[in-house]
Amino acid sequence: TCGICVEKCPFDAIEIINLPSELDEEPVHRYGDNAFSLYGLPTPKPGNVTGILGPNGIGKSTAVHALAGEMVPNLGDYESEGDWERVLDRFRGTGLQNYLQSLKEGDVTVARKPQYVDQIPNQFDGNTRELLERTDERGALDSLIDRLNIRPVMDQPIDSISGGELQRVAIAACLARDADFYFLDEITPYLDIGQRMIVARLIRELADDDAAERSMLVVEHDLAILDLLADTLHVAYGEPGAYGVVTDPKSVRNGINEYLKGYLDNENMRIRPSAITFEEHAPRVSSRSETLIEYPELSKSYGDGEFELHVEGGEINRSEVLGVVGPNGIGKSTLAKLFAGSLEPDEGELDFALDIAYKPQYIDIDQPMRVDVFLSSITDDFGSSYWNTEIAQPLQLDRVMEQNLSDLSGGERQRVAIAACLSEDADLYLLDEPSAHLDVEQRVRATTAIRRYAENHDATVMVIDHDIYMIDLLADRLMVFDGEPAERGHATPPQEMRDGMNEFLADLDITFRRDERTGRPRINKPGSQLDSSQKRDGEYYYSG
Ligand code: ADP
Ligand code: ADP
Ligand code: MG
Repeated sequence: TCGICVEKCPFDAIEIINLPSELDEEPVHRYGDNAFSLYGLPTPKPGNVTGILGPNGIGKSTAVHALAGEMVPNLGDYESEGDWERVLDRFRGTGLQNYLQSLKEGDVTVARKPQYVDQIPNQFDGNTRELLERTDERGALDSLIDRLNIRPVMDQPIDSISGGELQRVAIAACLARDADFYFLDEITPYLDIGQRMIVARLIRELADDDAAERSMLVVEHDLAILDLLADTLHVAYGEPGAYGVVTDPKSVRNGINEYLKGYLDNENMRIRPSAITFEEHAPRVSSRSETLIEYPELSKSYGDGEFELHVEGGEINRSEVLGVVGPNGIGKSTLAKLFAGSLEPDEGELDFALDIAYKPQYIDIDQPMRVDVFLSSITDDFGSSYWNTEIAQPLQLDRVMEQNLSDLSGGERQRVAIAACLSEDADLYLLDEPSAHLDVEQRVRATTAIRRYAENHDATVMVIDHDIYMIDLLADRLMVFDGEPAERGHATPPQEMRDGMNEFLADLDITFRRDERTGRPRINKPGSQLDSSQKRDGEYYYSG
């Protein structure tokens, strides 16, 4: 081992240069003997949106719990109760002193949006209206309900609404409060790009209300949103599950770029042996190949025509990766279920005899079964060197193999579900939102694993996702949904990447450029010179 990691190096590399000096001190919090330890805390600032960027399992939620006053940090002494007086002593003279002082005296009001919105229905029995009612402290609830498009689900029981609806309800419940400090632990899971932009704008507006002096703290993996939203950024690094260090604040651009580079400039610290790189490539052009599926025009409606989906007829080619994009509530998962055979179309017939492997959007694998037992029940290849190289390693499964499915975090569950889907022997692999809950590095690794799997096995894959970069890297062609969410949806036949991206982003009125240094896609400021010229040229994503 290189001395940093508690166990073996997760990167198979011993290139880590220097130990963070923080590790000589006692942590801010330690969960137990040999358990996760957190070093450093982010600094909320009035009038600012402060971002936190870091891998899963590095202590971001732990830091949020501490600053939200839900847990008193124990300064490493996990056998005794935490004590705010001691915490205050530790942070005297830092930017956190005033905040911790007020927190200790009960002088600050805090609103927090929890990370796992899926758990809200276990804690709340009632409908959306009842949940939101008690949060309306600023008289802003009505407007939040409209802007977040929550009105249609106001009278629905909380345990019956979708993940994207739950996420928006949870965000509204947090932002409706009248607080000094708002903590938003991941805002984008299950939201489409348009909804992400609206949430970013709402958070920005609260911070920009000068009279109120509000501080906003946002944990987020979507770099494009963080980029638009935050004023300053703390990077969190370390070894997931073992320890995490929160840096001093950086400018957003530097923070993101240093994080991706794997090297923190001010700290003079390597946090990863290699950079996370973003590949810029010309839009893929599909090559003619054999047709796997030819499907006719399809339609499907729910209930009394409350929602109607129309799918234009088309073809899916053998060994292509087909990307699927569109807003939420437009019928993407419905189409996946039609192809998977778990739903029957009202019109049109799907009578292909194909084996389909399907990873649904909401992963329901809450069995009390170990991950290794579960995966070995799916494939005989489990544990073979080929399976390890192609599936287990890129999806970083070694550390979760012995855990129970029901104990996994959101990101861990997602990676196991992707592995389970790709491990099946199928003609068509359907992946519904594989990026949800994954951190930046996990997304890049999962994307590479899926693409490589498709290429090595001549597999045909359909990927529904809101992560535009993931779709660009994965897909050979694109299917675009439009319509009116929750009312009617329309799907185009698979089209060339460039045309599809332009059609999709024109509908959203968003253009992307590439960051000069890292190549990562960035959303252009609406009305900026680039935004206008790209729109004029009709090039919303690809340049040149
Ligand atoms: P992040 O938000 O960055 O994903 P978390 O703060 O949720 O990370 O968790 C950091 C680490 O602390 C994880 O390994 C997690 O399993 C562990 N952890 C979180 N809460 C507890 C707890 N109550 N007791 C013991 N370990 C915990
Ligand atoms: P997407 O995947 O694009 O978010 P979905 O296919 O999940 O969209 O849903 C499209 C619309 O159909 C939504 O308004 C959703 O609430 C509704 N819907 C989905 N499943 C059902 C169902 N079983 N019964 C009634 N309405 C449904
Ligand atoms: Mg977290």
